[in-house]
Amino acid sequence: MNAAADSLATVTVVPGDGIGPEIMDATLAILDAAGAPLRYETVSIGKQMYEQGHTSGISPEAWDTIRRNPVFLKAPITTPSGGGYKSLNVTIRKSLNLFANVRLSKSYAPFVASSHPGMNLVIVRENEEDLYAGIEHQQTPEVTQVLKLVTRPGCERIVRYAFEYARAYGRRKVTCMTKDNIMKLTDGLFHRVFDEIAREYDDIESDHQIIDIGAARVAAQPEHFDVIVTLNLYGDILSDIVSQVAGSVGHAGSANIGEHVAMFEAVHGSAPDIAGKDVANPSGLLWAATQMLVHVGEAQVAETIKNAWLTTLESGIHTADIYREGLSSREVGTQAFSQAVIERLGERPKQLTPVNYRQGGISVRPTPTPRSNKELVGVDVFLDWSQDGRDPDALGSALEGAAPGDWGLKMITNRGVKVYPEGLPETFRTDHWRCRFVQRADAATDFGAVLGLLGALHDRGFGVIKTEHLYTFAGERAYSLGQGE
Ligand code: NAD
Repeated sequence: MNAAADSLATVTVVPGDGIGPEIMDATLAILDAAGAPLRYETVSIGKQMYEQGHTSGISPEAWDTIRRNPVFLKAPITTPSGGGYKSLNVTIRKSLNLFANVRLSKSYAPFVASSHPGMNLVIVRENEEDLYAGIEHQQTPEVTQVLKLVTRPGCERIVRYAFEYARAYGRRKVTCMTKDNIMKLTDGLFHRVFDEIAREYDDIESDHQIIDIGAARVAAQPEHFDVIVTLNLYGDILSDIVSQVAGSVGHAGSANIGEHVAMFEAVHGSAPDIAGKDVANPSGLLWAATQMLVHVGEAQVAETIKNAWLTTLESGIHTADIYREGLSSREVGTQAFSQAVIERLGERPKQLTPVNYRQGGISVRPTPTPRSNKELVGVDVFLDWSQDGRDPDALGSALEGAAPGDWGLKMITNRGVKVYPEGLPETFRTDHWRCRFVQRADAATDFGAVLGLLGALHDRGFGVIKTEHLYTFAGERAYSLGQGE
């Protein structure tokens, strides 16, 4: 991201559907008045494109424009009801490798009602990996599985982005949330990379919380958090908890960041119920636009706009969605609100805290992972097996008899719990067995030996579902042990 200045100046603009064109006009008027050094290329995506037969709501020409320009500002679009339509946002996120989802939840109390007046937190959610890779299989009549993929470059990119974000926005602390007390390799990698990168940012505090207690604390006391960085599934759930706790989404924006393209939009939808009436609040899209400016290195302009917006809010000039008798001084429409912000450009709020952004944009370049010495030390063979009353001792001795002489059966687990040798009769057993084999000391463990083992088991009638190789990296064990091992 952050390519040369000439390409940064061009923004793909999507006016969207419903209230989209109105709030986009209002937002661009403010950007122009503030002197944002941007050029715009407008593309039509959304309802009209769906109706023209583009099932993902976007034409090939619009794709070209979006992929060419480093940022795009998107007003909400309407997904037509009925089947056969793909979510445009999911398509965009996946196709453009938008790896970070950034959601700010901030209270503007007392000018906007809030049950958590001190709340000002940002969730930086990893957007591509984890359980959302969508790799699922059913392997036996009773058992399904999903692959949770967590990569070092993926962790590094998102964690570095979170720290860079904190610096750009003058934030003080980044909290990492994982479940690495259970998932020591996958979530453990995320946590480890977080600790490594945190050391490079000694101006920013860092801590780690286990996601379950962390999420509970966010729900109860969101004002105690600053920036939170987390994996995809936890981030998904946490974002919803936070928007529920925060209440109004009218002022929230969301950013999806990729290495080449970043997308900025309001969190709310196209609000067809109020479209064309000049009553919509443009603040969510304006928030997105200021984030876009910081991203491309125009922090000064973003700061001017944000401070003018805060001044407008505290002067009581409010759109209908936040207007409150006694607190607001004037109810205005979309365009008049935009005009009020323009009139206040250069002013700083007196009651609300003014913002202070850092110039320079946000840039994340992944560093290549060094290759470390990888050694095959064994194999987990997964079986679909339901014979002999599912007695683990019967399975164990049958496998001992079937395996070639250079292989030894180390253990069998069922749903991760060790059942052989010396399992407990109380352990519930399904039809899915993990059987760990290691070679005897003098035999070399290689792929050919694994094939020999699998062939022998197959010949004896065992239903092999899959295998997982057991590796060490630089001499360190890189696989989990069975519970009870
Ligand atoms: P919505 O956010 O459009 O509307 C919910 C309520 O909030 C409505 O009463 C609406 O009038 C009000 N509202 C929303 N934005 C407002 C604003 N800026 N100012 C004042 N009031 C506002 O949600 P919905 O009704 O569930 O969805 C409508 C359409 O938007 C659907 O077609 C949906 O698919 C689409 N949608 C698009 C996006 C997106 O493009 N990112 C996101 C969510 C929903």
